[in-house]
This record gives sequence, C-alpha cells and structure tokens, in this order.
Amino acid sequence: MEYRQLGRTGLQISRLCFGALTMGPLQRGLSPEQGSEVLRRALDLGVNFIDTAELYQTYDHIRLALQGFESDRPVVVTTKSYAYTREGMLQSLEKAQRGLGLDCVPIFMLHEQESSHTLRGHWPALEVLWEAKKAGVVKAVGISTHHIEGVLAASRIPEIDVISPLINSTGIGIQGGSRDEMLSAIAEAVKKDKGIVAMKPLGGGHLLAHWSSALDYVLVRPEIHSIAVGMKTVREVEHNVAFFEGRRDLPTPELTTRRLHVDDWCIGCGACVNACPNGALEIQGGKATVVSRDECVFCGYCGASCPEFAIKVI
Ligand code: SF4
Ligand code: SF4
Repeated sequence: MEYRQLGRTGLQISRLCFGALTMGPLQRGLSPEQGSEVLRRALDLGVNFIDTAELYQTYDHIRLALQGFESDRPVVVTTKSYAYTREGMLQSLEKAQRGLGLDCVPIFMLHEQESSHTLRGHWPALEVLWEAKKAGVVKAVGISTHHIEGVLAASRIPEIDVISPLINSTGIGIQGGSRDEMLSAIAEAVKKDKGIVAMKPLGGGHLLAHWSSALDYVLVRPEIHSIAVGMKTVREVEHNVAFFEGRRDLPTPELTTRRLHVDDWCIGCGACVNACPNGALEIQGGKATVVSRDECVFCGYCGASCPEFAIKVI
C-alpha cells in the first residue's frame, strides 16, 4: 500500500481510504459486527485511513474494528458534522469521541460546505474545531464539498487543513462547474498546502462499469493524497487493495444496480429535496420524485433527512 503525507497535517495516510458510508444503515445496513469485520480486513491489508460522518451512523462499526488492532502506522479516522453552532459542534465532537472510542479524533470536518457563505454560517462550529485542535482533541480541521466554490472558499482559509472534494472522471455530482474546473480548484487548494481526500471516484456507483479507468483517473493525480472508496464486503476490500497496489489484471467487480426507492407513504414534505446536494429530487404530484437520475450519486442524504423513512437507496 502506498502512503502519502496529507498536506501539512503531519498525518500519513494510505492512498486507499475506507469509505464507511456504504456499509452503514444509509446503504447496505451491515450490523456493527459485520461492518467491523469488513473494515478489519482493510486495516489488516494496510489501509490506515477511514472516512465517516456523524450522519453515516458507522461509529460503532469503526470502534469495534479498531478494538485490539495494532500497527506501527497509526489509524487515521476522519469524520464530519453538519453542526453550525458552538453547542452543536461540541455535541458532535463528544459523540465522535465516545462513538469511535478515541480521545483524539484525527480529522474533523464540516459536512457538505457549498461556498464562503455556508462557511461563514458555520463559523462558530469551526471555532470549536480550531479550539479542539489547540487542545489536542483533533489533529486537523477540514470540510467536505460537492461544490467547486466550496473548495475555493476553504482554500482561502489558512486554518482549514483538509478538503474532501467530489471528483471523478465524468464529473457526475460536481456542483457549480465542470470536472476540469474542479481539478483547477483542487490545484489551488494544494498550492495552499491543503490535504486532499477525493470522494465519489466511482460517481456513487454510476461508473462501476468503468471501474478500472475511473479509479485510475484519480489515482494518477499526485495532487490527490487519498481516495475514499465505499466498501461493504471483504471481497471488495481485497479487490480495491490489489488495484491500489498496482494489479491491473483484475476483473471488473460485480455490478450492483442501485436505485432510489420512494415509498407510498411519502407525505411530500420536501425535506429530502432540500437535503439533496445535487438537485436530483423534486416534489411532483405530492411525492418525492427523482427528476435527474444522472445527478444522483446514491449518497443517501435524502433518506437520512426523511421524517417518514420513506426514501432510501436500495
Ligand atoms: S422527506 Fe420523506 S416524506 Fe418528505 S418528501 Fe422526501 S421522501 Fe417524502
Ligand atoms: S437523490 Fe438522495 S441519494 Fe441521490 S444525490 Fe440526492 S440526496 Fe444523494
């Protein structure tokens, strides 16, 4: 496994990052015990970087996988929260420490930032993270974003250490411009010494048919320090690790068809429409409807926002 320095954070991370959204209740729904076995296999094979979020509900899976795991190379966990107030972020921090079983959470990010405006709106939460960094409770502070403007805005803030942008070979899911404009924004961020953790290299599953070329598209870019790939089976872990270690004779993984399902009991409240970062949903005829299938990256954020449990990725 190849390892990189993550910008100026001092953290050394594997090029393959274990994306923990996929195994959790928003997608495959593995139990903490099942998920921890998948993750443990990745750790045993040299993956030392795990990407999660409060929203993903996979802290238990990760804590179990870390229990008793020993390695010369420290495991780096990054998590994210939507908190925008001091109080909210203090609660998120405490929840992460308790849930992950870690006194120090290596990387803490603001989830899904769109622009300088949303960053300003989250400033009290950012201040908590910077205080936590000073106190040694986190080692690095960052943001995740699907938006080009989000990358550029975070690049201009010296105290932000890490940016997790959406980037893939076709540009699916990128907001506010093209794939190449996102690459230019990432290049700007690297000039400012930001650590870059790419997300959605497979477009949430849309690019699975072109699995190998889609992963190579991000892997060949030195400005991308690590690439988060969602994994939910030991087989997928072994396959991805082999690919990241240079094997190019591997078959394309089994295609798992995904789709969004809206149940009959949807009340048309619109919470999912507001939660979708990609504008893929509208209310039509009093119910949530996918209006832009190509824009849906199966992140499951709509399902997490639904008060009726009426929309999910299946
Ligand atoms: S949040 Fe749930 S209930 Fe509300 S519109 Fe979306 S699917 Fe329907
Ligand atoms: S429709 Fe749902 S799963 Fe698809 S991109 Fe929007 S929030 Fe994510």
